Amino acid sequence: MAKAAVLHRYGEPLSIEELDLAIPKRGEVKVKMKAAGLCHSDWHVVQGQLPLPLPIVLGHEGAGIVEEVGEGVTSVKQGDHVVLNWVPSCGTCSYCRTGRPDLCEEAARLMATGTLPDGTTRFSLHGKSVYQFLTAGAFSEYTIVPEQAAIPIRRDVPFEVAALIGCSVITGVGAAIHTAKVSPGSTVAVIGAGGVGFNIIQGAALAGAKQIIAIDVVDEKLAMTKTFGATHTVNAREDDAVSAVLDLTDGIGVDYAFEAIGRPETMADAYNMTRKAGTTVIVGIAAPHETVEINAFSLPSQSKTLTGSWLGQGNPPVDYPKLLDLYAAGKLKLEPLISAVYSLDQINDGFAALKSGQNIRGIIRFEE
Ligand SMILES: [Zn+2]
Ligand SMILES: [Zn+2]
Repeated sequence: MAKAAVLHRYGEPLSIEELDLAIPKRGEVKVKMKAAGLCHSDWHVVQGQLPLPLPIVLGHEGAGIVEEVGEGVTSVKQGDHVVLNWVPSCGTCSYCRTGRPDLCEEAARLMATGTLPDGTTRFSLHGKSVYQFLTAGAFSEYTIVPEQAAIPIRRDVPFEVAALIGCSVITGVGAAIHTAKVSPGSTVAVIGAGGVGFNIIQGAALAGAKQIIAIDVVDEKLAMTKTFGATHTVNAREDDAVSAVLDLTDGIGVDYAFEAIGRPETMADAYNMTRKAGTTVIVGIAAPHETVEINAFSLPSQSKTLTGSWLGQGNPPVDYPKLLDLYAAGKLKLEPLISAVYSLDQINDGFAALKSGQNIRGIIRFEE
């Protein structure tokens, strides 16, 4: 049995259920969850913006302890601390073979099916399958994931901090370091001061950017971005973000602009505040039907690079331990990103806070 937060119908609160949990099959790992972050992607599913089979256990940013391993598992053993990896790459598709496990086709397939690779899940309720989001199903006391989805980590970091690594940290720091390759002395703008935006800011600071402009609509969060490396802040409710960034950069725009909200208008803003030949990185997740309007003439005449970043273009088995080493060395601030801690029973309160934008990150802490 596993107590889990289950989405039965779009737009409705999650319900806490005692699910039946099968044993791990070959190549699978059972994880006792210790902490899981509430991410906008989970919220997109709750609202029906990312259609998936229901009922489903959401949650994909999590950390826990290996409870049991199935036959043939070699990378982790019982008792190991792990961070869940919601892009469990196959290692054999064309993207995996060419060094882009973040774009693995098999992981993309599983994102749509809500299952493990064999097309089934280990959760059930009254004999009917319950799906698991991004193979993770982290909002459950226990989950069973593919071996590639359980990344072993050092044991001396708190689980709440480790959980963040699995989505907001890799996505944000990776977007700055892997995708944009922010260079020392460069100028940066980041739209959206949430879990991902703060990590883009500290990733850019780590890379040596000289000017980092944080843009949001909440003054308290903007004030906090300064302790993560932001040099300037813009409240987009008071000032036009693009004009403010141009004013701060002698009228030319920034070398790198990041969008970390997921709205077409702010994606266009990010492009428009990027200087000629600069780089715009879209990190926020919009609904699948939305489109962005960009001036067609500017594409050749300004020669900007417009790109996206998925999972921070990261490689979890390599990057998660490295990011936790940076945290342990005092080079990444992670505790301050946790605005509120909830029990699993309080998960709907956590989503209400996420919806209102008051938290940087809300975290579920599982009881002992
Ligand atoms: Zn996420
Ligand atoms: Zn692959």
